Amino acid sequence: MLFRQLFDRDTSTYTYLLADEVSRAAVLIDSVREQLERDLALLEDLDLTLTYVLETHVHADHVTSAALLRERTGARTVVSHAGGAPCADLQVRNGDVIRFGAHALEVRATPGHTSGCVTYVTENRCMAFTGDALLIRGCGRTDFQEGDAHTLFQSVRGRIFTLPDECAIYPGHDYAGRTVSTVGEEKRLNPRLGAHRSEAEFVEIMENLGLAPPQRLDEALPANRNCGATTTP
Ligand code: FE
Repeated sequence: MLFRQLFDRDTSTYTYLLADEVSRAAVLIDSVREQLERDLALLEDLDLTLTYVLETHVHADHVTSAALLRERTGARTVVSHAGGAPCADLQVRNGDVIRFGAHALEVRATPGHTSGCVTYVTENRCMAFTGDALLIRGCGRTDFQEGDAHTLFQSVRGRIFTLPDECAIYPGHDYAGRTVSTVGEEKRLNPRLGAHRSEAEFVEIMENLGLAPPQRLDEALPANRNCGATTTP
């Protein structure tokens, strides 16, 4: 499988490109609107056909390029049925499978950061794209956008930490330049969600973060509910 990890410096967002080397069918996970031309150029350079644009959730910190990619390539857009983005072509649920050529991603519902968060897992369970449910040594905030710390704890413990320890964790963001972790590493070292933490401790940590609202919240949420389409509602 062809795999690329791309980065948007302004929002510290990772976009992932996965593709089948034989059929050239590709998917993008968490595309960023400002990086539209970069991503289209890469697809063309590598002779790939974009079939799906997947969101791990409806983002509050950047605007997706899903609608624009759909317009330019004919790809179908994918978001959780619980994401509140009726614009998407496919509203996926826990256990659904997204196929591209000989490869596939399993959808695991991992709510808690938002109610519509999902983690995409490769069929061989070697890679998990966790969005903001699980970050390297951290996790997404749970204090707005229907966030709930109890729910996030259950999601990470029940649907991410149940993957093999060697499974690579590819997060939605990293603010310190880290690119990848593993399930085993986060179980051992994640200061919030590691195996040493109880649910009550996790909830207390999350209730006391005292974070400012994301800078682009007012712009990003309504835009992403519309799959990042540029037309004003
Ligand atoms: Fe987020």
